[in-house]
Amino acid sequence: MAVSKCTRLSGPLTKQVLDSVDSVLFDCDGVIWRGDQPIPGAPEVVNLLKKAGKRVFFVTNNSTKTRKMYMEKLEKLGFEASEDEVFGTAYCSAVYLKTVCNLQGKVYLIGSNAMRQELEAMGIEQVGVGPDPVSGGQKDWASVPLDPEVKAVLVGFDEHFSYMKLNRALQYLSNSECQFVGTNTDSRLPLEGGKAVPGTGCLLKAVETAAQRHAQVVGKPSSFMFKCMASKFKLEPSKCLMVGDRLDTDIMLGTTCGLKTLLALTGVSTVADAEEHQRSGCPKRQGMVPDYYVDSIAEILPALQA
Ligand code: PLP
Ligand code: CA
Repeated sequence: MAVSKCTRLSGPLTKQVLDSVDSVLFDCDGVIWRGDQPIPGAPEVVNLLKKAGKRVFFVTNNSTKTRKMYMEKLEKLGFEASEDEVFGTAYCSAVYLKTVCNLQGKVYLIGSNAMRQELEAMGIEQVGVGPDPVSGGQKDWASVPLDPEVKAVLVGFDEHFSYMKLNRALQYLSNSECQFVGTNTDSRLPLEGGKAVPGTGCLLKAVETAAQRHAQVVGKPSSFMFKCMASKFKLEPSKCLMVGDRLDTDIMLGTTCGLKTLLALTGVSTVADAEEHQRSGCPKRQGMVPDYYVDSIAEILPALQA
């Protein structure tokens, strides 16, 4: 199929591309749903892909839900889904700490209850979830009490993020043997109407700045998420299609791992963004140019209904 990159996926090409893969990886927010609303046609696309014998995976950088919570959300929105098809950063971070970091000890967690649950399911104890009480009148913050069993700091989305947590993370990370892991680096979470809120990337940057260290990042575009799936399901990269709405995370992940890539224009990135990367001539930016794009994944429906 000799087509140039960043091609609109339409007509017979859609079926050709679908026939060339056996697995489809969907980013979640901006591709199959926006917030709590499904993208129109997305449940039908997912369900028909499965009917056609394709394996489907849901790959999200959002660390605020467990696999079980995602499965429940997917089902509620009309997607046929099982827990083992979901790869979120709460789950993948726990796998990362267990398998890559070979962690023997506890985690100081800047994150959510969902992250705590995924860590515990993997047999990893955590401290730190929930608000860190502001110690009244404490002056010597550098001597804040620490748990000697903590051997890693994990940073994900945390609505209770605070100066005290930042300080505690710095104190743990001052020990060079303490491992440092972040769920993802998304700096902003876009909302309807052009609004946005700070993403986990802001919290992770704060901790990196304080600790003067770089975290190991689990989420897209790091290839770990794909490795995690590939090892469990024996995926052949060239037979996988990664569908995403962000060039710097989803499409970059797809390129790095050797997957086919499809940009859906229902989220963050635009075709103009992709063309700018393409025109730049910069080798690294070519990784952010998708093979194909569609206005919405609903556009692949006719190829599945035929
Ligand atoms: N992180 C958080 C906390 C989010 O709420 C979202 C989107 O809702 C994301 C990351 C990005 O998720 P995705 O990778 O599914 O686009
Ligand atoms: Ca997305």
